[in-house]
Amino acid sequence: MDANSEVNERNECHMIRSAKEHRLTHVELKSGFTTVEEIYGSSGFDVWVDKCKQCGQLFIYCFKEKCRPCGDDDYWSFWVPVEESEIETVRNASPLLRFMGEFVGRRGNICWSATEEIYWQQGFHLAGLVFMPF
Ligand SMILES: [Zn+2]
Repeated sequence: MDANSEVNERNECHMIRSAKEHRLTHVELKSGFTTVEEIYGSSGFDVWVDKCKQCGQLFIYCFKEKCRPCGDDDYWSFWVPVEESEIETVRNASPLLRFMGEFVGRRGNICWSATEEIYWQQGFHLAGLVFMPF
């Protein structure tokens, strides 16, 4: 699967469009999705299947806490648009943390960054750092 086949531009979810245009707000992010499955949950690492309430686009939602030596922790959230057929791969991934690091690292995603910014990014260049095992 390559980047071009991920999402058809014309049918693109408004959440993705808004993120690309830097218009997506925290409120929209919090209220715009329904969680349809919790694949994994822990205190610092969550992987869920979210669905856009408006268009039904499926996303793999991933939350990752990154402990920092100075005490304050960083919180990262990602929504990676996926086809339904891809979800089984995520369910079966092992180890899941390493899989998600690679997945978010190479796939387009809506990012809610540690600095509270919301934007679309193609891949995630800090994945190797943020997805290290604590
Ligand atoms: Zn949508």
